[in-house]
Amino acid sequence: MKTTLGVKDKKDKRIVPLIVLCLTVALLCVASIRTCSAYVEIRISVNFILDANGNRPHPTDVNGNPEGNFETDQDVRDAIALGNEILSTCESEFRLELVGDIDDVDDGGRFFADEWTDDTWNDVHARATNPDHSAQYHWRTDAINLYINEGPWGGTAISHPNSRMFGMSARADEVTILHETCHILGMVHTWNSPCDDVAEDHNSQAQPWQTFNDIDIYTNEVWGSNFNALTSHEQWLAENTFFNVMCYRTVRDRLTPCQLDNMAEGGDWYAYRGQVFTDLPIYINSDRTGGQTGNFMTPYHTLVKALDDESIDNRVLVFEGGNNYTLDRILNADTELVPRLGTVKIYPESSFQASSISVPSQSLGESEGFRNPFHLEFNESSERVSASTRNKHEQRFKK
Ligand SMILES: [Zn+2]
Repeated sequence: MKTTLGVKDKKDKRIVPLIVLCLTVALLCVASIRTCSAYVEIRISVNFILDANGNRPHPTDVNGNPEGNFETDQDVRDAIALGNEILSTCESEFRLELVGDIDDVDDGGRFFADEWTDDTWNDVHARATNPDHSAQYHWRTDAINLYINEGPWGGTAISHPNSRMFGMSARADEVTILHETCHILGMVHTWNSPCDDVAEDHNSQAQPWQTFNDIDIYTNEVWGSNFNALTSHEQWLAENTFFNVMCYRTVRDRLTPCQLDNMAEGGDWYAYRGQVFTDLPIYINSDRTGGQTGNFMTPYHTLVKALDDESIDNRVLVFEGGNNYTLDRILNADTELVPRLGTVKIYPESSFQASSISVPSQSLGESEGFRNPFHLEFNESSERVSASTRNKHEQRFKK
């Protein structure tokens, strides 16, 4: 991925040491992933359930043609990457992090062909967490455990909110890993959504596999008009809903700002956040008043207040909004900054060393539209560091 520093003044003497230090930070990150996660990473451990002959799922359709989307390790990695591309595009502070090896569960074909229902989930969970079988099921307490089988139809998947496990069929589509992870953090389907940037979606379950060309079917259900006849606001709502990660349609590539707020709030109360998130988020929002705990619902109001939190090491500072944060000390390399909404400008008071800030390397100076909106600017006169994101509410997604 292309990475360039957004340095305005090429004569700035800080450039060379800055680059050296940034490279050093990057190398340290490679050596010590644990303390350098660039986002709030949700750890996921993936396992294939084998059949009675020790084979991985290889589902076929009625004509015998392969229809598995998850059969190889690479299939899993591609799905994780797709989930992260969606989270990046939506400007979420969360990312999916595949942990450990992608393992196989060899239990004589048990659960291999089961449809993922509540009963199946309960049975697999009971066996995987049983001390007699947890090693066989590669159960991890520090991650969400995903079990992939050859469930019979439609690519069923099931998760339970506030749990550390979900199951899905190898027939499920790639977005399912992100979809179920969102459920675990408490997010609901579009047809139950409390968000006002998601429209009605009462018929989504009845017609789950609509493709892009079917959007008029949907808009006629909700507005009685084809997509092109809608107002721009209605079109925005229609696209937010029709292509939403939390529906059942074929093209699912987005989450709305309100849904991302739901996810952040879900992260606050998620029972296993201390184990499953690689680093915990600390939210900062200078526009807010009231209590300050660093949670999404009760963010710190100032950067200084957040840094005074003694538990700040190995946490991710998420700038949720506001502007003009003052920095009164040098940040250590374990401090990650993730601007999530609006524009953030950080003003150092004295002896500020920009190079001591560790930011997502893939975000530095990227200029590919909204995909990597975070950038740093160094201005010699004010020694200002600014990190800005596009206004989320203006964002439009590519189809
Ligand atoms: Zn769902």
